[in-house]
Amino acid sequence: MTAAGPKMNLAAVEVAVGTILKYIDEDSGREGLWRTPERVAEMYTELFSGVGTDPAAEIDAIFSDGVTHDPVLVTDLPFYSMCEHHLLPFFGRASLVYVPDQHIAGISKIARALDTTTRRLQVQERITAQLADAVMSGVQPLAVACRVEAEHLCMSMRGVQKPGHRVVTTAIRHGQSGGDNGSGPSYSASELLSLLDGRVQPAP
Ligand SMILES: [Zn+2]
Repeated sequence: MTAAGPKMNLAAVEVAVGTILKYIDEDSGREGLWRTPERVAEMYTELFSGVGTDPAAEIDAIFSDGVTHDPVLVTDLPFYSMCEHHLLPFFGRASLVYVPDQHIAGISKIARALDTTTRRLQVQERITAQLADAVMSGVQPLAVACRVEAEHLCMSMRGVQKPGHRVVTTAIRHGQSGGDNGSGPSYSASELLSLLDGRVQPAP
């Protein structure tokens, strides 16, 4: 796991959580809440450990041996993040497909890039874009498509109260040498998304 967010002041967060408890609970002095501010502050160092870090920097292991232009799919990576509008969790799975140009990525590095981008205050659209951008700058593929699916507790347990909903976001990027003018095969946005869905086989 990445180091805790560099700017988080544990003691100040603890005091702030204590203040919230005081104003939302009629008996905030009871035993069960004694150490809650401390526990929440500790937990936040874990949940927000991606703050101030660069997802692209996590993709630091790339290989050029045995690289072809065959698409690489990494699917169903679980993640948990925190909605920056409500401070409630949203969680789900991220999948991506990329078409290598001259490099492939260490697969675990892609999972680490996802962790880095999700462990901060977020919106799902930005996670999707940051993951695609991290793969683009780290691996420089011909193309990459990311799809993130999640349930947002701010839509499930409050507000419109729609538990079981699914929010799907996608981000597609094409590299310099990809597309019609490039040396490798070109994949349109819809072809990349179809690969992600498992609906079509990669071109031979
Ligand atoms: Zn929200």
